[in-house]
Amino acid sequence: MMQTIFGYLEQHKREMKETLIRLVEAESPSRNKLLSDRCGQVLADLFEELVGGQIEKIEKESVGNQYRFSIGSGQEQILIIGHYDTVWDQAAIPLHEEDGILYGPGVFDMKGGLTVTLWALKALKSTGVDLNKKIVFLVTSDEEIGSLHSRALIEEEARKSELVLVPESSISNSGAVKTFRKGIGIFKIEVTGTAVHAGINPWEGVSAIDELVLQLQEIKKLDNREAGISINIGTISGGTRTNVVADHAEAMIDVRFTTKAQGQMLDAAIRSCLSFIPRAVIDITGNINRYPMEETKEVLTLFSELKEIAAGHGYVLQNGGSGGASDGNFTATLGIPTIDGLGPMGDGAHAVNEHVLLKNLPYRAALIAELLERKLT
Ligand SMILES: [Zn+2]
Repeated sequence: MMQTIFGYLEQHKREMKETLIRLVEAESPSRNKLLSDRCGQVLADLFEELVGGQIEKIEKESVGNQYRFSIGSGQEQILIIGHYDTVWDQAAIPLHEEDGILYGPGVFDMKGGLTVTLWALKALKSTGVDLNKKIVFLVTSDEEIGSLHSRALIEEEARKSELVLVPESSISNSGAVKTFRKGIGIFKIEVTGTAVHAGINPWEGVSAIDELVLQLQEIKKLDNREAGISINIGTISGGTRTNVVADHAEAMIDVRFTTKAQGQMLDAAIRSCLSFIPRAVIDITGNINRYPMEETKEVLTLFSELKEIAAGHGYVLQNGGSGGASDGNFTATLGIPTIDGLGPMGDGAHAVNEHVLLKNLPYRAALIAELLERKLT
């Protein structure tokens, strides 16, 4: 009798852990091309050893090389996206195992996700699932620094796909998958005034600081907790000394929002700021960096399928969202159903306690493999 996907994965638990260790050992800070390329090569070797299929290396000049792996064939395509870069400098935190938990740089964000994806694909092949669609596994190298060198590629592949799976880290501890992510905009507001002596002729000057304070109070009114819009004035600076009316002041603002329409509204509102103080000149730069991954009906349907799969293995799968963005925001914005947070259970992304629970690796790989199986047939 043919083995089940889950049975196959359970049987290869130990090898799954070894795959993860090999990936974490190959440290890959986003801005270190030499190390990143080594990690990319380890990943390509693992794909060849474990899965086998087409490997296309996309050479990059300033960041690590990227890879487009694929198996199966057919008119339709399903896309899985991941990144192998991490936020950690070399040797910043140690790789070690304790009580069934693996700690290390990038283990949760997102080498664990790469591991379960490799094994999900291997399980599909090994259990004889008919690969009647093309499955593309695109792995990039600059997600942690804004995806400037991969966005176009991600969007190009997404446009060809009916569905995008993102094995990024799951919601901490619960393992919940992410059915929405907020969008992000970053703006800089700069004010130019006229400097004069604060004692001799104060009213002849134009204080850039006074104007900036008024602007920020106005912008802050856009903050709306119920609607899921947050406005964070992250930095502020200006002026030179106490006895001079400031001729320059600036602030950096981070805006987060839940729907595309909100993002457009915020963008328009911030850009159309008019000065309160005559003669103060305002310059606004920046933009909406990523639109949100909205929780659409299609995404919730995907989630209910995943929930059924999880229940079949004795797990209760939950869903949730994140205020942080991922490359899934790009694909969702194109209108392609995207489900995120499919990586292993764990905690501590970007934190020194970053870790993954080893015993659940087969379950998390089965979520991906069995969802793919349903979409293939
Ligand atoms: Zn990540």
